[in-house]
Amino acid sequence: MITRFAPSPTGPLHLGHAYSALLAHDMAKGGTFLLRIEDIDQTRARPAWEAQIFDDLHWLGLRWPSPVMRQSDRLPAYRDALAQLWAQGLIYPCSCTRRDIQDATNAPQEGAAAFGPDGLIYPGTCRPRTPPAGALPEAVLRLDMGRALAALGQPNLAFTETGPASGQITFTEQDAIATIGDIVLARRDMGTSYHLAVVLDDAAQGITHVVRGEDLFAATKIHVILQKLLGLPTPLYHHHRLIRDDQGRRLAKRDDARALSKYRADGRSPKDIRQMVGL
Ligand code: GLU
Repeated sequence: MITRFAPSPTGPLHLGHAYSALLAHDMAKGGTFLLRIEDIDQTRARPAWEAQIFDDLHWLGLRWPSPVMRQSDRLPAYRDALAQLWAQGLIYPCSCTRRDIQDATNAPQEGAAAFGPDGLIYPGTCRPRTPPAGALPEAVLRLDMGRALAALGQPNLAFTETGPASGQITFTEQDAIATIGDIVLARRDMGTSYHLAVVLDDAAQGITHVVRGEDLFAATKIHVILQKLLGLPTPLYHHHRLIRDDQGRRLAKRDDARALSKYRADGRSPKDIRQMVGL
């Protein structure tokens, strides 16, 4: 089994991250646990946070092979995948601002605005009638979900979940069009999106079992669709419970009170951390 922990170096690791990393590490027992740095958002990623992540994970007792994969090194791979989807006529440039999308989805004839795993479902304003021609542009690029699923020709899609919601999770083409829509695959100034990068990286690293928080459960449908479109295998998924604060709110990067570094400074041990997260 090959598992991974894929933090973004945009803040301190907290108890929730510790749980995710420890679980992915423990599940790989006898296999390989990998670390991947998800730093595509260069406006928020900081080398100092990355150094702190390495330090905290080492302190927890985790080890992983070097060098680690870093998304900022993978832009050519993301571009190649976009070129492949472009050549198939499955993506198109979009010039809508967030405001445009809000206005279009608030239009009375559209009914209630619907949210998918990636935010407001795109109303299709820039979707062309026929696939765009020419070279792959440097632009915000969206997946034409209807066309992509028609190209796949699989009315039912599925992945295997081993977390608390365990079982075979199936969904239909129609469900994906209605509840996900035309998601962004290349964001402005980023050359990719989280969804495209994570799918390509998991495949490139040979991840067999993706272990991550249940907040990403709904996004997994997007990942399965991208895997099918790009001819990549679908790993097993384990979406674990989220660690919450005393008020039941999920921990966020700004919850410095539960930063691992804080517990370390208070003299807690890695064993204490395992106990706190229920491992
Ligand atoms: N980088 C994501 C995060 O820090 C995790 C992505 C994933 O595990 O698929 O939330």
